[in-house]
Amino acid sequence: MAFPEPLERLVRRLERLPGIGPRSAERIALHVLKMPREEVAELALALRDARMETRRCEVCGNVTLRSPCAICADETRDRGILCVVEGPREVASMEASGAFRGLYHVLLGGDAPREGGAPEPQALERLRRRVLEDGVREVVLATAPDREGEGAAALVRETLEGTGVRLTRLARGVPVGVRLEYLQGAVLAEAFEGRRDVES
Ligand SMILES: [Zn+2]
Repeated sequence: MAFPEPLERLVRRLERLPGIGPRSAERIALHVLKMPREEVAELALALRDARMETRRCEVCGNVTLRSPCAICADETRDRGILCVVEGPREVASMEASGAFRGLYHVLLGGDAPREGGAPEPQALERLRRRVLEDGVREVVLATAPDREGEGAAALVRETLEGTGVRLTRLARGVPVGVRLEYLQGAVLAEAFEGRRDVES
């Protein structure tokens, strides 16, 4: 073992995080040793709170403190239109843009790494139920224009077959490969305005 046990343990834990290889894990772990003790305690607490104090909204699947989330509970929003997104980050950017006043449906959880992640079967089931039971007239596909996003969109189409709901998707005023979370509000609003029907 190259490092004292607690340090080695930290490196092993960090290595499991997405996008962090063995070298970065070592660098971060050694950096932690140089941090003020209070800052390390804050970081540990923030990690813990983010995981333990948040949950998934039982309606839309978004990350929230309380279920149903503030968006689902907001009576002023249009309940007839659902925007299907891959994760909580996309909900956040959509909300920041102010382009959408309907409700969301999140396909992946905050704890599911997107890479190689397929939509959760329960999330698809819940979507079908919402469409059939909650008077939804339109479902907008806002999944990313890449392989995972297209795969997710295909599954949603399949899931909603026979429900008769109008299915649209965001306009591609956005460069292919650019993910929703990186888009500026204005571009997002435009993509939303220009949404088109998906032929089934
Ligand atoms: Zn919700």
